[in-house]
Amino acid sequence: MVSEPFDAVIIGGGPAGAAAARLLASWGHSVRLLTRTVDHTRSLGESLPPSCEKLFDLLGATDAINNGGFLTSTGNTVWWGEGTTRTAAFVDGATGWQVVRHDFDALLLRLAASAGAQVVRGALVRDVRLASANGRPGPAVSTVEYGTDDQSRHEVQASFVLDCSGRTGVVARRGYRVADPTQTTLALAATWTRPDGWGLADASHTLVETYADGWAWSVPVTPLRRYVTVMVDPRTTDLGGDRGVISRYEREIGKTAALRGLLEGATRNTVPWGCDASLYHADVCGGPGVLLVGDAASFIDPLSSYGVKKALASAWLAAVVVHTSLTNVSLAGVALDLFTTREREIHDASVRQSTTFFAEAAARHLHPFWTGRAGAGDPAGPEPAADVDIARLREDAAVLAAFEALRGARQIGLRRGDRLRIEARPALTTREVVLEERLVLPTWPADGHGIRFLRDIDLVRLVELAPEYEQVPDLFEAYVRRCPPVSLPDFLGALSVLLAKGALVIT
Ligand SMILES: Cc1cc2nc3c(=O)[nH]c(=O)nc-3n(C[C@H](O)[C@H](O)[C@H](O)COP(=O)(O)OP(=O)(O)OC[C@H]3O[C@@H](n4cnc5c(N)ncnc54)[C@H](O)[C@@H]3O)c2cc1C
Repeated sequence: MVSEPFDAVIIGGGPAGAAAARLLASWGHSVRLLTRTVDHTRSLGESLPPSCEKLFDLLGATDAINNGGFLTSTGNTVWWGEGTTRTAAFVDGATGWQVVRHDFDALLLRLAASAGAQVVRGALVRDVRLASANGRPGPAVSTVEYGTDDQSRHEVQASFVLDCSGRTGVVARRGYRVADPTQTTLALAATWTRPDGWGLADASHTLVETYADGWAWSVPVTPLRRYVTVMVDPRTTDLGGDRGVISRYEREIGKTAALRGLLEGATRNTVPWGCDASLYHADVCGGPGVLLVGDAASFIDPLSSYGVKKALASAWLAAVVVHTSLTNVSLAGVALDLFTTREREIHDASVRQSTTFFAEAAARHLHPFWTGRAGAGDPAGPEPAADVDIARLREDAAVLAAFEALRGARQIGLRRGDRLRIEARPALTTREVVLEERLVLPTWPADGHGIRFLRDIDLVRLVELAPEYEQVPDLFEAYVRRCPPVSLPDFLGALSVLLAKGALVIT
């Protein structure tokens, strides 16, 4: 008997796979998630920033995670070599989570199953035959072949295959993935305990310490137990020749000052183990019926502590793309393009952020480990959304001049700027890609996506109404009659920006 194809088959049960499965199942789609057996003694302790909460909320997972027994963290402490200590609490007293990934992943998988996804553990995917590749007529379904721990073989079909297999990249390695040759990183990790506590000002903090040819990093997972990992580059770090993993690890810890001191009198509970942390990305993150999600598409430097957040955000976007494609075929291509664009933007923003950190470390350590990384991206490169940053717009001379012109005018005639276009562009709701009208100008916003709202002001409606009124207060009244209420200062600010950017001109 041939069973119906699933809406989605998901390869991998890390954060990306579990989140995509939970969302799609809760939106009414049939989902099978296949995930292989892993050695959980090699699971890492990882830090999740407070901003993950929005994604947990979207997943309906916040309560379960807060009750999951994970340590909460109030911030980070960074030592720049033997130099300064930087202690940074999360903004507004927010807290993040310090998780043992095996426990965190297991919790997310339970949530995926409770939403109705079929979760198959111990399932190793061996092959994927993509519908887009077979070119045969008929319904576009792909086939995923997997083996289970009892040595049996299985095949399953689906309209969408989501590669959430992390570094393995079951589909991603078929020509999508590009390695970043400047950043080869090996992580050596071990867990430590200290029965009398760590004597730190705030024992919940993630600790980071740079040294000449590497960096070390520590995540507490209980008040007495923590992971301590060293990040080295086998090409540039002096690993002391061909030695065993224990002596290599100890040699690196010996290069630190603060962490070495912290570990004096502590017990290492595990033999250190290694895992690859080298960077890669994909220029295209999928095709018809297939998406590369989370680490399958790109890996960002662990320094950022944003890998899990990025994986969850990627999973949400992938679920939106699948849902849109299955419910509104006409938007399938637009949704796929949006997926790749967003994934690349997130990856590029992260590279810019870590390059800034590496440049700071390179100024201090002047070693190829750091200078190579500092040269990998351009920290001063264009930030796509920077020019819709409200704080910057408030200081923009042209915006301030437009504001003064509006304030001084008793009467004002406004018309649309000659170069303004109003075009339908893809936008995201919680579940769908939709087309929405946006203002598009040749140079603003620089990301070319167009803009609809500025501080809740609907710019398209404002541009349509503006030519009909000669007094700003009348225009404001007309606007609030048609759109949700906004404050007068925000309204005047938005009008000033439209004038400064040439979307409106004074006649
Ligand atoms: C040293 C290090 C430290 C890090 N520290 C942090 C941190 O502090 N904070 C943070 O947010 N991020 C951190 N990260 C990044 C984070 O681990 C990843 O970004 C995150 O795990 C990505 O999730 P994912 O679901 O995309 O992939 P993964 O978590 O890698 O999940 C992939 C899943 O696919 C399964 N799989 C693979 N191949 C197959 C197959 N053929 N068949 C079936 N299943 C398969 C795997 O078993 C796994 O369950 C760190 C990474 C490293 C290497």
